[in-house]
Amino acid sequence: MRNETPASSTAPALPTPGLIAELERICPGGVVQGLPLAQVSRWRIGGPADLVLRPGSLAELAALRAFFHREGLPHLVIGATTNLLFSDRGLRPACIQIDRRMAGIEAVSPTGIAAEAGAWAPRVARVAMQMGLTGAEHICGIPGTIGGLVCMNGGSQRKGIGTALVEAVTVDPTGEIGLRRAEDCGFAYRRSVFQENGEVVAAARLRFTPVAEAGRTRSEVRREMLKIMADRRGKFPQKEPNCGSVFKSNPAMYDDIGPPGAAIERLGFKGRRIGGALCSPHHANFVVNTGGATARDTLALITEIRDAVLAATGYTMEVEARYVAQDGTFSEALLPAAD
Ligand SMILES: Cc1cc2nc3c(=O)[nH]c(=O)nc-3n(C[C@H](O)[C@H](O)[C@H](O)COP(=O)(O)OP(=O)(O)OC[C@H]3O[C@@H](n4cnc5c(N)ncnc54)[C@H](O)[C@@H]3O)c2cc1C
Repeated sequence: MRNETPASSTAPALPTPGLIAELERICPGGVVQGLPLAQVSRWRIGGPADLVLRPGSLAELAALRAFFHREGLPHLVIGATTNLLFSDRGLRPACIQIDRRMAGIEAVSPTGIAAEAGAWAPRVARVAMQMGLTGAEHICGIPGTIGGLVCMNGGSQRKGIGTALVEAVTVDPTGEIGLRRAEDCGFAYRRSVFQENGEVVAAARLRFTPVAEAGRTRSEVRREMLKIMADRRGKFPQKEPNCGSVFKSNPAMYDDIGPPGAAIERLGFKGRRIGGALCSPHHANFVVNTGGATARDTLALITEIRDAVLAATGYTMEVEARYVAQDGTFSEALLPAAD
């Protein structure tokens, strides 16, 4: 997966005072140095990120990317980190984090919503419900940004956000702003073109169905959302930091032997621990940080589980969580992995 600039430029961004001053000019109030990922990332794992930039607008995002392109400085883009495992050594390249500073949500037509990439997915689902629309219920419990959700084509109940996307406002690695229509986004199960093409999603234009057209009412949709959230609270570990399901569901495996969690549980992995990383006794497809887990512990446990399921069933489970090495490259969260 590549949400970083092409690997031709591999020199780390050195946060010199001159560089910081220039970035402060481009992205005022959004420059953070030495961010401890073990304190702020969703899994509470990772060394320090040398430089994090949180743009407050599309213009700032485009200007940041254009600047890095001109200067030949590598960078990567992240959202709320709910699908990411960071290296114990932290992050050397600059990291653009699209989050609360770019999180507007707006009704643009009776069935259309425009959401900036940092908008919280559950908030978008709530706005859709309040507008009398159905189709966003499945994202009401997913704790990520709309940009991350579009990149991952995330969703639940076997759905993906791609089916609701009309078009994405994008910023390419040179800082050029563009529009990409849904049919050109390469959506497949938990996949999109944004995992490969270096473009960043700056905003998403989404369309949902009026409840009446679907033969439903707004209060039914609201009740369904409450039920989805209650089910998730009951099913998923709530206390220890985690990144949601570690392994993707695979339709052939599902029909044959069930979802990843069931296959892992049958092999007795619930409660298996490596260092601070634990296969959750609550749900076997979750690896939780019980305190002080390292990326190495977590990668080792995920790899052990993947290998054991392969040996027992013949199915290679694909890892949904992404590992971010200190040079900013993304890969499946499995060993062997770069530092
Ligand atoms: C408790 C829990 C439950 C979860 N349940 C689900 C679920 O039911 N279904 C599901 O699909 N996922 C689920 N997830 C995983 C995660 O929430 C989703 O993948 C989410 O969409 C990721 O959003 P994010 O903002 O955290 O992205 P990040 O984790 O920060 O990034 C994920 C990927 O998206 C890229 N990215 C982020 N923002 C952008 C952008 N603006 N433009 C381009 N690329 C971008 C990053 O480079 C990275 O490759 C769950 C996670 C947790 C912790």
